[in-house]
Amino acid sequence: MSDEFKDNLLKAAMDPGRLYHQAPCGYVTFTANGTIIRINHTLLNWLGYTAEEVTGKMKFSELLSKGGQVHYEMFFRPMLNLSGSVKELSYELLTRTGEIVHVLLGAVSVKDDDGQLLAVDCILTDNTDRKRYEQELLLARKQAEKERERLSQFFMQMPAGICVLDGPEFVFEFINPLYQQLFPGRHLLGRPLLDALPELKGQEISGILQDVYQTGRMFEGKELLVPLRRTPDSPIEDRYFNFIYQPRTNDHDIIDGVMVFVIEVTDMVYAREQVQQSERSLRTLIMTAHYALMILQGPDFVVEIANQQLAALWNKSLPEITGRKLLDILPELSDQPFPELLRNVMRTGKPYGQQEEALRLTIDNQEQLKYVSFYYDPITGEDGVVTGVIVAAEDITSQVSARKALEVSYGEQQSLNEELAAMNEELGTTNEELNLTQLNLREMIANFEESESRLRSVVESAPFPIGVYIGADMKILLANQNIIDVWGKGNDVIGRSYKEILPELENQEIFSQLDTVFKTGEPFHARNQRVDILVDGEQQIYYFNYSFTPLFDAAGNVYGVMNTAADVTDLNVAKHAVERNEKNLNEMILQAPVAMCILVGPEHVIKVANRLMVELWGKRIENVLNRPVFEALPDARNQGLEEVMAAVYNTGVAFTTSEMPVTLLRNGKEDVVYQNFVYEPFKNSEGFIIGIIAITIDVTEQVVARQRIEESEKELLTTKNRLEEELEAGKKVQRQKDGFIGMASHELKTPLTSLNAIIQVANAKLRHSPDPFLKGAMEKANLQVKRMTDLINGFLNISRLESGKMIVEKQRFNFDNLIREMIDEVQLTTNAHAIKLAACNEIEIVADRNKIGSVLSNLLSNAVKYSPKHTDIDVSCTLKGEYVMVSVKDKGMGMRLDDLEKIFDRYYRVDSADTQHIAGFGIGLYVSAEIVKQHNGRIWAESELGHGSTFYFELPL
Ligand code: ADP
Repeated sequence: MSDEFKDNLLKAAMDPGRLYHQAPCGYVTFTANGTIIRINHTLLNWLGYTAEEVTGKMKFSELLSKGGQVHYEMFFRPMLNLSGSVKELSYELLTRTGEIVHVLLGAVSVKDDDGQLLAVDCILTDNTDRKRYEQELLLARKQAEKERERLSQFFMQMPAGICVLDGPEFVFEFINPLYQQLFPGRHLLGRPLLDALPELKGQEISGILQDVYQTGRMFEGKELLVPLRRTPDSPIEDRYFNFIYQPRTNDHDIIDGVMVFVIEVTDMVYAREQVQQSERSLRTLIMTAHYALMILQGPDFVVEIANQQLAALWNKSLPEITGRKLLDILPELSDQPFPELLRNVMRTGKPYGQQEEALRLTIDNQEQLKYVSFYYDPITGEDGVVTGVIVAAEDITSQVSARKALEVSYGEQQSLNEELAAMNEELGTTNEELNLTQLNLREMIANFEESESRLRSVVESAPFPIGVYIGADMKILLANQNIIDVWGKGNDVIGRSYKEILPELENQEIFSQLDTVFKTGEPFHARNQRVDILVDGEQQIYYFNYSFTPLFDAAGNVYGVMNTAADVTDLNVAKHAVERNEKNLNEMILQAPVAMCILVGPEHVIKVANRLMVELWGKRIENVLNRPVFEALPDARNQGLEEVMAAVYNTGVAFTTSEMPVTLLRNGKEDVVYQNFVYEPFKNSEGFIIGIIAITIDVTEQVVARQRIEESEKELLTTKNRLEEELEAGKKVQRQKDGFIGMASHELKTPLTSLNAIIQVANAKLRHSPDPFLKGAMEKANLQVKRMTDLINGFLNISRLESGKMIVEKQRFNFDNLIREMIDEVQLTTNAHAIKLAACNEIEIVADRNKIGSVLSNLLSNAVKYSPKHTDIDVSCTLKGEYVMVSVKDKGMGMRLDDLEKIFDRYYRVDSADTQHIAGFGIGLYVSAEIVKQHNGRIWAESELGHGSTFYFELPL
């Protein structure tokens, strides 16, 4: 209640007329015909009239607007007549000046006893503000409606999802088509949020929604991850949304819902992630390029970015390089061609590449020569102005020196030169590839901001092998043709697992390297690694510098591995050729069947020594290897070897000696050994003498053996001489003996011939003598003379044989008769044996009859002599072609085989208990054999000890 109002109320209480006139509402009383009879000041003030102008003069309807007058006549007056009162009617009053005053009107009729209307009392309150408010409200409502329409229209057409969630249950009250499109086919409208999208239960977003509903605070979310199903049947996906939750209030300003404005940004998030990954990958690519790579900016060539390879090439660290001017980093470049070439590229905007250029670097105040292949590529800004240069370089020092080494090493061998040519060609190709690589790298950097498809195309067009593998199972996401060609497993590799494509790598550590990179996030680099790959079913040996670089997602987790590689097979083949040569040499030395070693440098350090050499030295290999030879073998000093070795090392002229005596301390005692030495100069691949190849052939054994042979030969000679002397002496005795026998036999023969003649005469005279003794005596004397004659003939024959005087006097005679004659003659000497001749044809031969007779006689008498009494002796005579063969078989003592071999030797007699009492000289068979030999015949015997003997001889007819 206002103070003014209180004041007026007080005043009114003291003066009722004052209250009537000054009340904050209008009072008017008019008669049944409408004439105003009383009106208060407040109303007069509203209308701008005086009491005099109105009272008794104006009708109430005149105070009303036109519409008010009609309403008054049609409704107000009749109603007052009927009910006596009206309430809160809204009327427009007209002021004196024609303006409208809005009032609320209440009226009470004053009636007489008959019920006739006498007057009407009206009370009017100012309703202008209210009216205006209402109008404004209406307008506002209309506008709001329009606005709502527009908004709805807008919502419906918004490129964003909009929904209104009603009440604490968040029932979908409204959704626009785009909101529905976020969940095609899912029934949302009219359903509570968590019924319609149950996967939201427990998610952060539900909490946020509750919070907005309760606090009324708006929430704005950016790229919020909400795992949601898209369609009723699709799996839950990771989806990202930008959204606004706005509380919705009812007319009473109470929150009764949440309005949601949402845009799905999943694709954008993924795209950006991919872009980020691409950027990271590109950067990684650059930093892990197998070539030195840098970007030089501005006319001063400030190094903007450089990779480790470049730092390594310059023998610097990355911080020493990055952000500095090229010529500040390497002042020694100023008089080398590089700065001018760079300036040319800046000026002309044309790329420049060179395959082999010497790069002189000053490292620790010493000049070092390297060889590089390089490529300069201009970086052009949007306005076409060259702002910098991408420099790619490869350190080919080892290739160049390998090539140079090979050139020297292989000298003029044509076939190897061809290989070299091939290798050079290969190196050339590599450089071309490098140039191409740089072109692509330039693009990569220029397109740093571009999307994954860009990376893909860059990767695909990179002229060195690149592959990108995703997930622990190494699914191939990207692989360029280069790596596909290296694998040689066909083009269909994308989406397949690396391990499935290259199962042959199983035991080559590569899978575990990949796994480790994936697990630890640490990159892996390998250099000159041999990798055996099955290309079209054939095992191929490659050498790669390769890297496995982890790829991180935005959350910092490894999601894949990038594999880049540089094929360095050719370089390795070249290097290996050099190594192989060296190894072959070492191997050859180690395996050599002679003692060999390599002594290096002026100190003759023992670099390689084979087992034979070490044995020769009498040392253990570990005690001599890598030591100067005269330090390792002090006992070899001062024997002239120092000078010899120095001469070979300094002049390159080989030195050989044979059978040089060397005194060595071996196993604690001094030994003299004899050695053949060969000292050859040992040259490196460039032809410089770097040492000595020593070959030592230990000839001690030969020398000792030869010395021994020489000694024994001397001995042998003495012995031989002595033996010869002895032999000569023996022969002399023999000759004397033969001479004696010959002479004696001769002398004996004459009296024996006389004796024989006397006995023949005496025999003839005494044949008929009655004295049986005389008769028998003469026969016995005859027998003894015959024996004696045989004996002497034997001796004579021997001496004739020895003196070469035995003469064969051949004649034609009946051989069978001779046999019978001889049998009869021998039979005369014995009664105890029966000599039987098997049937024998008449055979004529030409031979010395006496001598063949003596052969027969000898064989027959031996058969008698060496057989016991009462055994038979069988004689046969058979013709065999051109020969006649005679056999004499006894059943006597026989003999052993070793005796049988010797019985035809001169003076040989079997020495046994059975033979010792049988007289003889061992010359009969000897002479017989000589006679048969002189007739070109053959004589032999068969015998078995105790079972008799058979003697044979055959003579040509
Ligand atoms: P000699 O009978 O006078 O000793 P030979 O030259 O006739 O000389 O015979 C040499 C040796 O051969 C004999 O001493 C005897 O030992 C052996 N010999 C020869 N004939 C026979 C034979 N028929 N049976 C066994 N031994 C024989």
